[in-house]
Amino acid sequence: MNTIDTPILDTFIESSPFGICIINAESQLVEMTNDKYSNLFGEIRESWLGKSVDELTEMGHPIDKKVILNVVGTNTTFNAQGLKLKVNHHGKEEQIDISLTYSPITNPDGSVTKVTIWAVENNARTIELQNVATEKQNLNVERQRSYELLHEIPAGIAILSGKDLVFELINPLYQDLVPGRTLLGKPILEALPELVGSEVEKSLRKVYQEGKPLSFSNDQVRLSNSVSEELEDRYFTYRLLPRFNSEGSVDGIFIFTFEVTQLLDSKVNLERTSNNLNQIINMLPASVVIIRYDNLIVEMINDANLAYWKKTREEVIGKPFLEILPDLADQPFAGQLRKVMETGEIIDVKESPVLFTESDGTIRETFVDYTYQPLTGLDGKRDGVLVMSFEITDRVNARKQMQLYADQLLYANDQLSMLYNRLAKSESRFKFVFQKAPVAIGLLRGKDFIIESANEKILEVWGKTESIVGMTLADALPEIQDQPFLGLLEDVFTTGKPFYANEIRAMLMHENELKEIFFNVVYQPIADDDGNIADILVVATDVSEQVNARLSVEKSEAYFKMLADLVPAKISNALPTGEVTFFNKQWLEFAGMNFEDMRDFGYYQMMHPDEITDFQVGLSEAAANGKAHVSEMRFKNSDGKYIWHLNIASPILDELGTVTMWVGSTTDIQWLKEEEQRKNDFIGMVSHELKTPITSVNTYLQLLLRKAEKADDPFLQKAYTQSLKQIRHMTDMINGFLDVSRLESGKLHLEKSDFDFSELIEEVCIDYQLQYSTHHIILNFADAVTVHADRLKIAQVLNNLVGNAVKYSENGTKIHLSTEVNDRKIKVIIKDEGMGIKPENISKLFDRYYRVEQQSKIAGFGIGLYLSAEIIEAHDGKIWAESEFGTGSTFYFELPVK
Ligand code: ADP
Repeated sequence: MNTIDTPILDTFIESSPFGICIINAESQLVEMTNDKYSNLFGEIRESWLGKSVDELTEMGHPIDKKVILNVVGTNTTFNAQGLKLKVNHHGKEEQIDISLTYSPITNPDGSVTKVTIWAVENNARTIELQNVATEKQNLNVERQRSYELLHEIPAGIAILSGKDLVFELINPLYQDLVPGRTLLGKPILEALPELVGSEVEKSLRKVYQEGKPLSFSNDQVRLSNSVSEELEDRYFTYRLLPRFNSEGSVDGIFIFTFEVTQLLDSKVNLERTSNNLNQIINMLPASVVIIRYDNLIVEMINDANLAYWKKTREEVIGKPFLEILPDLADQPFAGQLRKVMETGEIIDVKESPVLFTESDGTIRETFVDYTYQPLTGLDGKRDGVLVMSFEITDRVNARKQMQLYADQLLYANDQLSMLYNRLAKSESRFKFVFQKAPVAIGLLRGKDFIIESANEKILEVWGKTESIVGMTLADALPEIQDQPFLGLLEDVFTTGKPFYANEIRAMLMHENELKEIFFNVVYQPIADDDGNIADILVVATDVSEQVNARLSVEKSEAYFKMLADLVPAKISNALPTGEVTFFNKQWLEFAGMNFEDMRDFGYYQMMHPDEITDFQVGLSEAAANGKAHVSEMRFKNSDGKYIWHLNIASPILDELGTVTMWVGSTTDIQWLKEEEQRKNDFIGMVSHELKTPITSVNTYLQLLLRKAEKADDPFLQKAYTQSLKQIRHMTDMINGFLDVSRLESGKLHLEKSDFDFSELIEEVCIDYQLQYSTHHIILNFADAVTVHADRLKIAQVLNNLVGNAVKYSENGTKIHLSTEVNDRKIKVIIKDEGMGIKPENISKLFDRYYRVEQQSKIAGFGIGLYLSAEIIEAHDGKIWAESEFGTGSTFYFELPVK
């Protein structure tokens, strides 16, 4: 709380004969001051207000921040005297001498909230006192002069002379402290007998004896005001100064005093008012803030307002409004505040939106009812605005929400009120519309809810006939006794507030059977001429169909889940974002987790790391093409063991072809994999066992061939050559199977070396030309190019592709073998003029054991291309085929060159 607009305080400060300046202990800002105070410094009051102590010090004011802090800390008064100050008085540079008294103002809990500075200009006094000390000779003359001056000093001043302390001089202000009592010429204890034995007496004696000044602030003195009055507790701030004679010994006492009784009372009042005001304002459910001056400084604010602004007190007090809430600059508030200050008009706005930018950048939309009330200072000038606001965001939002819900019903309601308006004009027409309205409408009269009218629709919904008109609702529909409707109607009747509900469920008797009906309903109270609720209008729309439709969707979803749990496969659902919404029982059992854990743990966590990338790539391709992604992949079970699965992720598309959902079906194929492994092991073993006998058969055949050559037996020569060809076929085949089984067990080892690719092609080509005179092999390759690869394996690929070209084309056709070198790659092209491949089969050519069906007459096992692809891929290369069915095929592969 900074400033309190209490007239008592204002009046007090304004009428005080002393300069007063009130500083806020916390903010160190000047809260109040009067003209006398600022005049002392040749300035106008406005230049002080709102300034901080530091700013005042900069302006040359002798105010001492340390003293203020000390007064706040110790809760004691402090006097600073003999402060010299150069001021500009009426255009003249003058040196003045002032005393500043710093007094604390405390809360009831004893903490200091403000410091009041009392300023007295005491040039005359100080000069005089110095003279007393230094120029004792001129004592009498000077005394006379000072006496004259003393009359002008705005404090009560008295001089007591001799050790009896006789009033030698008093100024009018001193006399005013005890009006009507005779002082001059009398000893003080005689003139003011109530002081006998008091602290004042003791202090006077002390000063007289010790020759040292004493100061007191807010000191209690029991003193009667005037002769006739009783003793009162009064408070004075005073100073006793010894007066010295020419010998340098004390011969009297100067008293400087001012009464602070009223001030203290005001202070107590001020505190009380301030605390009450604080408490009251803080207790208000409204937000309250006081804003001052053109720059709209926030002077006071309550907790509710701080909470609404989401600020702390430190962040707002003493700061310009727009600096605290810069986002309000574009909103009308600052302009309105200034207008109130200028014109004094009161602004009262209801349901105004106020937008705040939150720290995270989002906009907080709030609604408030607010009033701006001008505040006027004692001078009659407007200097501030009292802002009171009520935040009604919840109310506004709730209403908006409700409006939304009730739109449909309100529409019906609107129509109905239209009908109502027309009733006066044409009752029969109204009745017709009312009767035929597509919504159920009924009017219930009085607190017994007598059915006054019911249209066809409502009778249909209720399952009743017109015979119920005139009955009470409870009698007409006995089945609703234990349902909430009668209670709701009673609430509407007593509160006068309409009731809205959506999809409310009722069980109503239709032809002797309870039927479940859902409807959206409005109970609209209707007041009579006296404003009392007389009737309730019931408007309802039957929404059973849509509720049932929704329920059946929910049911079929549940059905789907049930089915999904029954199938042996693992089924899952996911959103297009990948967030999984469902795992069936098989999945959860496999993972050993509940749904939430499995969803949060992450489907990907269960995948074998080697397959995640392929899966992701495959999935995004599937999403782009709108096709299912099929892959064999491993998932970790609850024992941490990876199990092979056939995973099919199918996108569900909407009419526009966008993915709305993924359905995953994942089947355990571990046994199949194991079977396959066993088969591979077996093939590997058999192939290996066959190799030795075939090698020896080969050797024998060669020996026999040589013998036949020597014997010059052409028949045997041809027979042996033919047999050798068959043996070579068989060797190739066995090697192929061995390779497959090695590949399956991950044992395909590459032995890479640098070699000239052209040389290799030439070798393969010559080999074939020698063997197959049936086809024309045409070679067309680029110059020498070095690759770093497994020469034997690449030769195997070339043999395979050229072998296929021969195998799948007619005798006498051409086979083109060419290379292209570009972009650090070598591309090998093998083109035949054979039977070609149908487009739908091209993608499957490189699969293991795949053979195009029609060619089953041509021998083969479907492993050549599979092995070739594996070898090329192991070299970071690429292999593919193009073909025109019936015309020929072209196979390509690419390898990086060195
Ligand atoms: P194999 O030739 O032993 O059957 P491959 O893996 O070498 O096995 O070839 C797989 C299949 O691809 C063949 O069965 C054949 O149907 C088809 N194919 C391969 N090369 C050609 C080609 N040049 N022309 C037509 N079809 C081919």
